[in-house]
Amino acid sequence: MPSRSSKLQSTWDEILSEIRKSVNPHRFNTWLRPTRQEKLESGTLVISVPDAELQQVNEKFRPQIEQAIRRLHLDGTVERVEVVLAARRAPDSLEAAPAAPAPAAPPPLQKTLEFDTGSLKPEYTFANFVVGGSNQFAHAAARAVAEKPGRTYNPLFLYGGVGMGKTHLMHAIGHQTKALGRPLRIEYVTAEDFTNEMISHLRHDSMIAFRDRYRSVDVLLIDDIQFIANKERIQEEFFHTFNALHGAGKQVVISSDRPPRELSQLEERMRSRFEWGLTADLQPPDLETRTAILMEKAQLERTKHPQTLELSPAVAEFLASKIKSNVRELEGAMIRLLAYCALKSLPVTIAAAEEALRNLLNQQQRKLDIEIIAKAVAESFNLRVADLKTRNNSQHIVFPRQVAMYLTRQLLDASLPEIARFFGGKHHSTVIHSIRKIEQERQVNQTLARTLAHLSEQLR
Ligand code: ADP
Ligand code: MG
Repeated sequence: MPSRSSKLQSTWDEILSEIRKSVNPHRFNTWLRPTRQEKLESGTLVISVPDAELQQVNEKFRPQIEQAIRRLHLDGTVERVEVVLAARRAPDSLEAAPAAPAPAAPPPLQKTLEFDTGSLKPEYTFANFVVGGSNQFAHAAARAVAEKPGRTYNPLFLYGGVGMGKTHLMHAIGHQTKALGRPLRIEYVTAEDFTNEMISHLRHDSMIAFRDRYRSVDVLLIDDIQFIANKERIQEEFFHTFNALHGAGKQVVISSDRPPRELSQLEERMRSRFEWGLTADLQPPDLETRTAILMEKAQLERTKHPQTLELSPAVAEFLASKIKSNVRELEGAMIRLLAYCALKSLPVTIAAAEEALRNLLNQQQRKLDIEIIAKAVAESFNLRVADLKTRNNSQHIVFPRQVAMYLTRQLLDASLPEIARFFGGKHHSTVIHSIRKIEQERQVNQTLARTLAHLSEQLR
């Protein structure tokens, strides 16, 4: 008798309730909630997961699982935990399913993963992808495509800025399609590699092989298509590949740094074809999502390198609040912080983060130098930067200049002499006076308050 039918709560459920106390909710929902106890026999607790990619759950949460077992005094009962892939039953066979599924045990992970993961990065799975408002739609579309390639949205066109997770989602589609165990040919290629391969085949007079290769796949994932926008010959070739695949009901997934209509150098017929299916954008993630991504990455890092220090949610949020530009940079900053703390034997605190990232943060801030602020302010007052830098003290220049000084101090934390130097070599007491004046004025002047808010938003 499987233990779950004899008790209200299975042993695994008890363990889960314990683990839950120490794992962040997003991770719990992604990894642990979908697990089920299959059986508990001679010290082996067998749990099942619905997706192949979740089979790492055991490795990922080993310390937490072991701790929970000890805390619940289950050490004598559970000696090891094994993870299997849940058997997928056709709905009509449910009734006929045997009560004890012992002989038809689900295949172990190694078996299911015996496909060629080729150029797909192992970590870029759906399970490791954090879903937030900024990417929800693209994520749902990608999942739908992975479930039924060629039959839902075809092509799927994903677009968004650098580091928004386009490549990650494409790989995840590849992994998931494979994990569902269908004998499909999946090809992931960047538009750049596609181009290089084609050039090499052209040179070796082997275009037939090239065409065969790309026209025989079931799922073509082509990344960063903007790369071929200004290359006519490549476009032509891709156009035919696309048509051949699409016409045969094969799935095409395309990514780009901008929407089809903005790929201005791309032929019109291609652009319109890209819009046949579904277009989904990935926006920059908000603070909460960035924090969750960091927690996820830190955990991944720990599974790869167990000695990696732990990242607390507070420190993750601190990093995420400082680095907004893109997830890749954020990840880099985290790795650097953890390495820094490990080398210096420091606990991973916000103070340590501030110290470790000073260089990095300064770099980010330097990008936004005084010149840029001055330019934005000048534009909004219909002036030129040069006007703000003159010694001209007529009122229509003095006021914008004060605004620019104020914003420079706010956004850059620049020193007073530095600001004074930039704006026409004033004495730094003039700068202090200017900043105070704007600060006071904004309290009572709504228009000014709005202008300032607008400018800082634009500059941040
Ligand atoms: P893009 O292709 O849009 O430039 P990538 O897919 O290469 O971006 O993502 C950059 C990095 O950020 C990768 O390490 C990726 O795993 C990570 N990343 C981006 N978005 C997410 C997300 N929502 N969840 C988890 N990781 C993410
Ligand atoms: Mg990419």
